[in-house]
Amino acid sequence: MTALAADESLPPWLQEPWAAIQGARQAQRFPHALLLTGPAGVGKRRLLKALGRALLCSTPNAAGFGCGQCANCRLLAAGTHPDLVTVGPDEAGKSGEIKVDAIRALASAEGLTAHRGGWKLIFIDPAHRMNPSAANALLKTLEEPAPGTLICLVTEQPSRLPATIRSRCQTLRLPVPSEDLALAWLEPRVKGTPAAMLLHLAHGAPLRALELADPERLALRERLFTGLMEVAQGRRDPVTEAAAWNQAEPGLLLDWLGGWLSDLLRLTSGQSQPRLINPDKATELAILAARLDPAACHRFLRQVWKVGASDLSNLNRLLLQETWLLECARLFGPGADRDVRGGD
Ligand SMILES: [Zn+2]
Repeated sequence: MTALAADESLPPWLQEPWAAIQGARQAQRFPHALLLTGPAGVGKRRLLKALGRALLCSTPNAAGFGCGQCANCRLLAAGTHPDLVTVGPDEAGKSGEIKVDAIRALASAEGLTAHRGGWKLIFIDPAHRMNPSAANALLKTLEEPAPGTLICLVTEQPSRLPATIRSRCQTLRLPVPSEDLALAWLEPRVKGTPAAMLLHLAHGAPLRALELADPERLALRERLFTGLMEVAQGRRDPVTEAAAWNQAEPGLLLDWLGGWLSDLLRLTSGQSQPRLINPDKATELAILAARLDPAACHRFLRQVWKVGASDLSNLNRLLLQETWLLECARLFGPGADRDVRGGD
């Protein structure tokens, strides 16, 4: 790998949080536990990786970034550094939880000791997936911090962590960058799709926008939107369409559906030119908005958000998608008592 003179993996909007981290290090105010939060796609994991390199590198540069060339940096790049442990949900289990055994293993004396004489880094990601026993075990470790150990909790949903854990961590919240900064970074990285539209769809989060620029994802969004429109117009069976919606990751699907419903509400708000999340779908959405009961749509959107805030790994996806699409047919269909399955 190339030398990281100024950690090129760190986009411009992360320079300020980075400077705050560096400042705390230099002032000897570095925490033993860090809670890294912020919306999806603003670079939490990038910052964390850079932090891992910075702390474990043998010869960091003046800005505090890892050199990318020493033995420690090479071990990190290979994902085999013994002093960086990342704990995530139990992959073998279906619960999607981080279990107590994983936390206990970390918290043992052996788990907290650095093998190579420097920092011991423990990343828990996504931290809100810890089940209550795991969170309890972690709390004990946080109450008795081991010197030279940094525990980083990463999550988009910090409110799902116990307050006792949050209060023992220093919180670093990465905000959505300014539109100018985000577009300047995004534009040269996406080809053929307007960067501003992608940034809109990603709620301003540039890394998420970059992910959305993937042609397959864009095609899937088109496909699902068309499906929704056809269900709404009674031209497609909601149950058949629900199966097609399985192609999208649950998080993405929730985000898209939430965005479409939000835009529909904005279009019924009476504003002359509401700012839409999906400006490319304004014409189609306006047709649906014209025959929409805003209160019912608002209730529907709240249901979608509620699911979004829950543990997506435990969803009965197909059932949920069927429920949603039947709701779409009911909300937007020309007649509430119409048999929507008779279409096509
Ligand atoms: Zn290095």
